Amino acid sequence: MLPPSFEYASPKSLSEAIGLLASRGEGAKVIAGGQSLIPLLKLRLASPSLLVDINRIPGLNRIEESGDLLRIGAMTRMAEVEASALIRKDYPIIHEASEVIGDPLVRNLGTMGGNVSHGDPNNDMPAVMLALGAEFVATGPVGERTIKAGDFFMDTFTVALNHDEILTELRVPRCRPRSGGCYLKLEQKVGDFAIAGVAVQVRLTKEGECEEMGVGLAAVGPTAIKARRAEDWMRGKRPMGGEAVQELARLAADESNPSTDIRGMSAFKKQVVALLVSRAFKRAYQRAGGAS
Ligand SMILES: Cc1cc2nc3c(=O)[nH]c(=O)nc-3n(C[C@H](O)[C@H](O)[C@H](O)COP(=O)(O)OP(=O)(O)OC[C@H]3O[C@@H](n4cnc5c(N)ncnc54)[C@H](O)[C@@H]3O)c2cc1C
Repeated sequence: MLPPSFEYASPKSLSEAIGLLASRGEGAKVIAGGQSLIPLLKLRLASPSLLVDINRIPGLNRIEESGDLLRIGAMTRMAEVEASALIRKDYPIIHEASEVIGDPLVRNLGTMGGNVSHGDPNNDMPAVMLALGAEFVATGPVGERTIKAGDFFMDTFTVALNHDEILTELRVPRCRPRSGGCYLKLEQKVGDFAIAGVAVQVRLTKEGECEEMGVGLAAVGPTAIKARRAEDWMRGKRPMGGEAVQELARLAADESNPSTDIRGMSAFKKQVVALLVSRAFKRAYQRAGGAS
């Protein structure tokens, strides 16, 4: 199908883009890589009167550590994240998600900002950002504000951005000693959206207790899910033996709320969540230096 007609603007600065969004109200929409928005337009599930293309705005594409943060510009392509030596070495949880998003064509165009701003519960990066305790920088007419990933995903296709705000940066706590993470995704075939995706990030004390703990779930609810009860339960524990990990997995599966659809029955997906959480935790724990 052809998309409905729309006006198109290609601003060269952030302030120009924000001005356009503010002046046109809800009818204007940002377009980044177009990998989620263009299909929606073609299916006529969205019909914005104006597309504000942010591809020509400088300064929105970077991967760098500064201070306590890893800063990823919103226009950084998935393929750039996948190819980043820094991400591969110190943030394997992000690397693992980046390499299972769609196919190379999608990853060459799709952006980090678009992946989280779209609010699709089936996307992979939101779960990773929830596990990492990331923050997102939203820039609008009155300047910048930061939004915790845990407060960002409000409902299916609804995130905590105002219509005149652009997500400009994703901020992840900088990799620290004794920390490790892992993203695992079960898909029907390569390139598919997840049956279930699980992100686990852990930081250990010198004694091997879980000091910080993050669990994010993809494709098993109306939004990406931060499995807070599972996280709280594991914090302060020293996961010797399999029982603690089993309980963590059980709690996370309990917090998932998958629907029955072409990718499987709800009960099956809950079992997948439990299995993936258990595996992802073990790998994250080993990466953090914990003895298995
Ligand atoms: C064949 C195919 C397979 C796919 N498989 C997967 C998969 O396995 N896993 C996965 O996670 N995703 C998958 N996707 C979805 C897609 O890759 C991601 O959602 C993509 O990263 C979106 O980024 P984008 O830059 O293309 O966003 P766009 O399509 O340009 O925009 C998406 C939405 O986000 C908004 N937006 C974009 N950038 C910003 C910004 N900086 N500030 C404010 N709002 C913004 C837009 O207004 C729009 O509402 C797939 C897509 C296709 C076409």
